[in-house]
Amino acid sequence: MRQPWVGGNWKMNGLRESNAALLGALKGAEQLAGVDVAIAVPAPYWQQASEAMNDCAINVMAQTISPHASGAYTGDCSVAMMQDFKLSGALVGHSERRQGAGESDALVAAQFAALRGAGLSAVLCVGETLAEREAGETLAVVSRQLVAVLEQYGAEALATGVLAYEPVWAIGTGLTATPEQAQAVHASLRAVVAAFDINAANALRIVYGGSVKADNAAGLFSMPDIDGALVGGASLSASEFLAICQAA
Ligand code: PGA
Repeated sequence: MRQPWVGGNWKMNGLRESNAALLGALKGAEQLAGVDVAIAVPAPYWQQASEAMNDCAINVMAQTISPHASGAYTGDCSVAMMQDFKLSGALVGHSERRQGAGESDALVAAQFAALRGAGLSAVLCVGETLAEREAGETLAVVSRQLVAVLEQYGAEALATGVLAYEPVWAIGTGLTATPEQAQAVHASLRAVVAAFDINAANALRIVYGGSVKADNAAGLFSMPDIDGALVGGASLSASEFLAICQAA
């Protein structure tokens, strides 16, 4: 059985005071038994989140990461910096990075390699735009994004982290993929991994992201290939986020 995974992606939200309230409410919550929980926080607050979660089971992650070890990369943060603040891993390939910051499949693969090289976990995000879905290209797009990492680093490396299916049209829009729509893509993604390594495919947590809320989480989690969620907006409310964790 795969242990469910729920991640909160804070995106570019929160300031020290509101973070302290949110972190305090998450810490020690009883809803977290039987589920792996992580929060991906903005870089200026790595230290605050890491210190607050120091003695609790919630992992703190980065939202993106440089593929480079150090040097002349203005504005970037390295894996070593993550380790300095005891972060457990990072999201890679979030659609807001692919689209807004021009992160390519090749760059995402390099970020994945940098994390794995340091023994940290990667949450690889894949997803299609509305135009791609309407053109019938969903599986081609998400498979391409997945294979860009799989081909280079293998299924076992992938299974040490998490794969997140996040249809771009469902992110922050209030439009959630139906459990059946998400399940169909998750099953296809697992089949792609299985072609490389069946055991890794069975072990890999594939989570759904895109307008997950407390009231739609249980339906999504009832699907056999949906192993948790990557939660954006709803992760900014401790009660919403904890309710989603509990549903997992
Ligand atoms: P959302 O974001 O839950 O606000 O739709 C999900 C994500 O982008 O990870």
